Amino acid sequence: MFDLNNLNPQQRSAALHQKGPLLLLAGAGSGKTRVITCRIANLLQQGVPAHQILAVTFTNKAAREMRERVQELVGKTDAKGMIIATFHSLCVRILKSHIERLGFKNNFSIYAAADQQRLIRELLRELSNESSSADAEQVLWRISGAKNRLVTASDYQPNDRDPLSALTAMVYPRYQSALKAYNAVDFDDLLMFTVQLLEQHTDLLDHYRELFQYQMVDEYQDTNPVQYRLLRLLAGGHNNLCVVGDDDQSIYAFRGADVANILDFEKDFPGTKVIKLEQNYRSSGNILNAANAVIKNNQKRREKSLWTSSGSGTDIEYLLCEDSEDEASQVIERIHAERYRSKLSYGDFAILYRTNSQSRSFEEQLRYENIPYVLIGGQQFYDRKEVKDVIAYLRVILNPADEVSLLRILNYPKRGIGESSIDKIIRYSASSTIPLWKVLKDSCNLPDINDKTRAAITTFVSLINRFQKRFKQPLRLRETLQELLAELKLADEIYRQEKDPLVARRRVENQEEILNSMATYLERSPQPTLSGFIERISLADDDSSGRNDKESQLSVDAVTLMSLHSSKGLEFPVVFLAGMEEGFLPHKKSIYETFDIDEERRLCYVGITRAQKQLFLLGARQRRKYGKLEQREPSRFLSEIPEALLKTVDSARPPASTPEQETVSANNFFSNMNQLFGD
Ligand code: ATP
Ligand code: MG
Repeated sequence: MFDLNNLNPQQRSAALHQKGPLLLLAGAGSGKTRVITCRIANLLQQGVPAHQILAVTFTNKAAREMRERVQELVGKTDAKGMIIATFHSLCVRILKSHIERLGFKNNFSIYAAADQQRLIRELLRELSNESSSADAEQVLWRISGAKNRLVTASDYQPNDRDPLSALTAMVYPRYQSALKAYNAVDFDDLLMFTVQLLEQHTDLLDHYRELFQYQMVDEYQDTNPVQYRLLRLLAGGHNNLCVVGDDDQSIYAFRGADVANILDFEKDFPGTKVIKLEQNYRSSGNILNAANAVIKNNQKRREKSLWTSSGSGTDIEYLLCEDSEDEASQVIERIHAERYRSKLSYGDFAILYRTNSQSRSFEEQLRYENIPYVLIGGQQFYDRKEVKDVIAYLRVILNPADEVSLLRILNYPKRGIGESSIDKIIRYSASSTIPLWKVLKDSCNLPDINDKTRAAITTFVSLINRFQKRFKQPLRLRETLQELLAELKLADEIYRQEKDPLVARRRVENQEEILNSMATYLERSPQPTLSGFIERISLADDDSSGRNDKESQLSVDAVTLMSLHSSKGLEFPVVFLAGMEEGFLPHKKSIYETFDIDEERRLCYVGITRAQKQLFLLGARQRRKYGKLEQREPSRFLSEIPEALLKTVDSARPPASTPEQETVSANNFFSNMNQLFGD
């Protein structure tokens, strides 16, 4: 029996809540996620069947952690069957069973950014020769925005004030037709199609409403309109929806998140029970006060008063560094010192930054110092070219209609199907409206192709056919993948193409890493299939290759590096918030728009509130940009933290500085800040 006594009275009343809409609106570190976990455990103990429980989180990592925590509370057997998923994985689950009703097959491919770009560029080329890859990105951005608002291709209206919207209006329907022909969907379709399915088929809607009797959503402040619509559909009827969130941590407006969803929850779900939590259990007093002081500068927010019963703790240090390299060495120096002084392990430290490119100098020095680290996000493992090549093979084996993947591997590794032959094949397929795969299968009908090329095509088709059969044996998935890699000799191709042998080796290792990822998948899945494996990696939102997976993260005690966006919901004893400079935080894109500054301030708040015991804020005087040194100014958010909470340390000054000098420097800094921002 798990103990509800480890919750305060408000938390307990939320965890014990059984039916009807519930809103938990509370600040960072107040135990919102803990309440969801305890509520699930409580429902299970009350005898609610596990499959009636649905919890939606924002990242796979959060979902994994929540599942583990529930299992710790009630045991693995009782927890079996509950669904703790991200929006995307929940939708894949629903679509796998019913996407036929939308005219797709259930072995559909899921296209991520690179595949989408490839397809859009191709469509733009067909429309005009003048479109750049920047246009492709812009068009894709607009299509994605439309889908997040549930605007379909036929409903999309160009907007006079936005020149690229006319192009988008032309491309969007073509893009959807191409995806359908390839039996592929993109990430936004996963959500939009699920909503369409449920809206158009009442039997399905009834089925899922009946199935998911108890629904919970973490980080509700970041839901966008399509996610909101999905939740409303699923919760309709019983209205058993419990959402938790913090309007001060809404950081996805740029992806269409609408903070009104949480602020209007009570209106949308009449009879909502609202519970507020005000005690913060995560951070020391100084850290919490700094966070409160920063966020109160945002105008549009619900006032909250977060307090902590823990002491004020150590000072927050602002480390003013020379440049990026100095910033990294200051961090490493502190890691060494704190490990020694406070007996911490590497896993207790996190380095957070606004943009992924800021990780480079930290990575270099951590590697140099032999300090283990895990990088979350950045160039994702599955985004690497050599990894995508292997995945493209797997996708074609599963879904030969997937022409983006098919074209990627048709002549990779080189097998004698040259560019002009590929052009002819594509043109023939387009003019005869025969899908590419069928054209290849019946290559004897292909005009204008020499015998050698035809033979190469036949060999390719038979390779795919052979592996389609082999991959049907679930117990041999890993071996079959190994056989595929051996047969393709991709490693030889990489060594041939890559001049630097070290880089080549790393790329080959990355391909081998897919085998580890497969091994992990096999360990976890009761009914493994190739399709299940591809689904897992298509939805990987963190760097969860075999090497960096959760289990190994725990065993390899390592420093965490990640962006502020990815750090949502997490906590670490020691946090380094790097790049506290104008241009980074707030990010330069947002400086001239007050609305966005508020979002940047919320990001800063998220960063500060990740820290439990110690917080270091870092900034550099100068940084290199395109090889040139650029002067930097301290972030305006630093000046919002009361002086008394912040100890400034200037790395340019000798370490044995007297306390007086310290104060002078801090004062100078703040008077500079005041001049800069006039407050
Ligand atoms: P965020 O807004 O950052 O997502 P949160 O509100 O979800 O934060 P949790 O992550 O659930 O907060 O909790 C923060 C920390 O406080 C965790 O370490 C959690 O275990 C701890 N905690 C929460 N409630 C209590 C409590 N009643 N007693 C002791 N510790 C608690
Ligand atoms: Mg949380």
